[in-house]
Amino acid sequence: LFRPIEKITTMMELYPRGIAGFRRYCALIDTEPDVVDRPDAREAPAFRGRIRFRDVHFAYQPGRPQLNGIDFEIAAGETVAFVGPSGAGKTTICSLPPRFYDVTSGAIEIDGMDIRDMTLVSLRRQIGVVQQDVFLFGGTLRENIAYGRLGASDAEVLEAARRARLEETIAGLPDGIDTLVGERGVKLSGGQKQRISIARMFLKDPAILILDEATSALDSVTERAIQASLAELSAGRTTLIVAHRLTTIRDADRIFVIEAGEVRDSGSHAELLARPGPYRQLSAQTPGEGHVADGATAPA
Ligand code: ATP
Repeated sequence: LFRPIEKITTMMELYPRGIAGFRRYCALIDTEPDVVDRPDAREAPAFRGRIRFRDVHFAYQPGRPQLNGIDFEIAAGETVAFVGPSGAGKTTICSLPPRFYDVTSGAIEIDGMDIRDMTLVSLRRQIGVVQQDVFLFGGTLRENIAYGRLGASDAEVLEAARRARLEETIAGLPDGIDTLVGERGVKLSGGQKQRISIARMFLKDPAILILDEATSALDSVTERAIQASLAELSAGRTTLIVAHRLTTIRDADRIFVIEAGEVRDSGSHAELLARPGPYRQLSAQTPGEGHVADGATAPA
């Protein structure tokens, strides 16, 4: 008799947590009421990952344009870094392919299909977003990783944790991967939370990856571990990075220099350095490795 009672008690405990999570989810959804499926929206085919921005204009509020004619194509599997001053529009550009917002005019296509013709579910299933601010719900670490793909097996969750360099963290927790985390459990560091979101992405396995690189300082060991797992994660996927770190920018296949909602220049690190322009200006201003200063007048 004890076991079923224990189970019911656990479920009763989980229920309010589930409701709280659901409320947070609704609050999130409430911020994007304009983005809905078109009546004739179709299931998106499996993405190869070519992304085309066609003369994209965007404003959060009418009369206050933030993006002014963004036009480029990103090849399937390519890694691109967006750099530019704070407020230039880098995050805004990256929030459009998953349709957190819809373009004001112009269009975005993935593999030649307008993303507004796809159902939101089939679009977002194939795009992974790793944000700075990771959402952890009040469950175990295992459950928080498994959130990346419902129905993932235990072996898959462990493999994702390994690839996200979470093994040491797990070894240090009182109940290992079954330790409660989040508000009522063990508090995790920013770096650990980021690795959980990376582990979720290994499970989700999306064709397109969007990374908002942390501006917050992490210790250099954590930093290297995160960079290594992100490099592994982005291999073979189209990757868009709001980049703040010089190493990320240098390693990108292509860099887009964004200023005042426009692409001012683009090319590889070597190409951009070889010609006078905003990128070279920035490089001159940013000595050594590490973070690129925010608020600079040139890239990132
Ligand atoms: P940073 O490097 O600081 O992250 P960014 O280049 O990513 O900057 P965005 O976050 O894209 O810049 O912001 C571009 C502009 O849009 C800014 O002026 C910002 O204040 C505005 N903005 C961003 N998000 C919203 C929002 N949800 N509602 C209204 N305005 C917004």
